[in-house]
Amino acid sequence: MKLYKIKKSNIDKNGRGLYATKNIKKGTKIINYVGNIISVKESDNNPKFDNKKPIYLFNLNKKYDLDGDVSWNIARLINHSCSNNCDYEGKGLKIWVTAIKDIKKGEELTCDYGFSYDSDFKQYPCKCQSISCVGYIVRQGSRWRINKKFKKNYRVNN
Ligand SMILES: [Zn+2]
Repeated sequence: MKLYKIKKSNIDKNGRGLYATKNIKKGTKIINYVGNIISVKESDNNPKFDNKKPIYLFNLNKKYDLDGDVSWNIARLINHSCSNNCDYEGKGLKIWVTAIKDIKKGEELTCDYGFSYDSDFKQYPCKCQSISCVGYIVRQGSRWRINKKFKKNYRVNN
């Protein structure tokens, strides 16, 4: 039995997501993140990846990237959350989506998309609705910058 099923997402109201079909223990490999292995040179030069937001693009090593923007990559349906319960884990040329918390049956699987904080972060609002949501899809290590921004606004307006 697969550990996930595809369902209408609670996060992305217009899209789909993956949901746990049973309780999943922290550390469990849930699904293989698959795609086409392309050279770093190719992803650098291909206009498809020009927006600098590598939603489906993973760097595997110095030479190769993995382009997961293919219909047979079910793991691409996993949505971003500021309080994600899964993460991408690379080994060699393989990427797994692994549980980083105990996940209950019926919970939506979520990852950290790892977007960096830059001038256009506002193009990617986050709708994860978790308590720790910063409002935008930005990787965990950079979220403090947004929090700082929010705090500043808070002081100014109040
Ligand atoms: Zn969020």
